[in-house]
Amino acid sequence: MINKLLAYQEIDGKKREIEVTLAKSDCRRKMVEAKKYLETVEEKLAKLEQRAGELTAVFENAVALQKKLALEAQDFSHAIDSLEDETGANFLVKKVDELSAKIKAVDDEIVKVENEIKAVLQDYAKIRTLTAKAKTQFSENKEEYAKLKESVKGDLESIDSELEKMGKEIDAELLELYNKKRKEMYPVLYAVRDGYCGYERCNMELPMNTIGELNSGKVVECGNCGKLLFVKK
Ligand SMILES: [Zn+2]
Repeated sequence: MINKLLAYQEIDGKKREIEVTLAKSDCRRKMVEAKKYLETVEEKLAKLEQRAGELTAVFENAVALQKKLALEAQDFSHAIDSLEDETGANFLVKKVDELSAKIKAVDDEIVKVENEIKAVLQDYAKIRTLTAKAKTQFSENKEEYAKLKESVKGDLESIDSELEKMGKEIDAELLELYNKKRKEMYPVLYAVRDGYCGYERCNMELPMNTIGELNSGKVVECGNCGKLLFVKK
């Protein structure tokens, strides 16, 4: 039984090779990269729109305040023109100074907010450009990847039909376990080496009862790395 599963694994290795070639292909990498970017775009744009809304409100308030302060300044200059006593003049000069400071602060605030709005708009434009690029990158590479898949379709089909034939001669439960493992690892099967897991990177010393099971001809899962182990007869 184990020899049949080993032969199955060998043919399965050809399938695995094709799968790896597809997974590592440049076009797939570029396709995935573009897709990931596009998935984050909406969130980024929503954040920018929210920020733009906040800044617009701040800007409008500052402009309204600027107008109000300008009117107050006008009133003061009329009052100073019609002034007669010195105490009143000193009071008004103090008030004018305070008002000038307020006007200066509002002017600065407006410049600051305008710059922030400009930066948001630049970010927005940049994202739109990158989005357009990512869309092109995605569709071009998707097409390329489809062609690549199509080019190996025949090979995969013949491997699959060979595996199906071979699988019929293998214990169903064992084959199911192999195929489940195969989704996460390859190779799946390893021969035990002197009581140790045969997978070099694991190399765990196997417990006595496991060795007993293996010696009775069973295929046993390594408790450490999960590979399927057997004893070479
Ligand atoms: Zn192991």
